[in-house]
Amino acid sequence: MAIVSYRIYCSDCENQTVIQEDRMSDHPWKISSKPYHEGLCPSCNDAVDAESADDWSPDDEEIAFEELDAIGESGAKNLREKGIVTRGDVKEASDEEILDTSWVGQKGLESIRRSV
Ligand SMILES: [Zn+2]
Repeated sequence: MAIVSYRIYCSDCENQTVIQEDRMSDHPWKISSKPYHEGLCPSCNDAVDAESADDWSPDDEEIAFEELDAIGESGAKNLREKGIVTRGDVKEASDEEILDTSWVGQKGLESIRRSV
């Protein structure tokens, strides 16, 4: 089954993030409306205690690989299966590791690197 991701914009500030549907339940962002891509980021959400809001960093943001040039749904799925999901994962992954992913080529690698 395809993994569905949603881009969510904070209604109180400029923050935005991408959240996979199957991870929404334990994600620090509060999603108010999936169809309208509305939510509340951890720093604007009073219900999230300050400590866990501090734990959230841009490196935790999940990447919507499907939105990148030269990467299709198969490539995106294969990357996630390898554990390459967030910006931080991409920064830690080597070029070889990313290129070794089925359906991800040199152009895909370049657009992934550009996105982080
Ligand atoms: Zn916010």
